[in-house]
Amino acid sequence: MTGGRAAGYCWQKHPEGAGRCTRPPGHDGDHVDYYTGRRSLAATEGHRWPQ
Ligand SMILES: [Zn+2]
Repeated sequence: MTGGRAAGYCWQKHPEGAGRCTRPPGHDGDHVDYYTGRRSLAATEGHRWPQ
């Protein structure tokens, strides 16, 4: 089961295992995990890595 994709996420695994991409499937640009790797709860920038 790929629950992330079913939920409408790209779900590409981070190369360092730090999370999965939570942008929509087929997006342009970098993968971003908006829930992992944030510097603070107020941060809007997530963990980002290139395609
Ligand atoms: Zn992605």
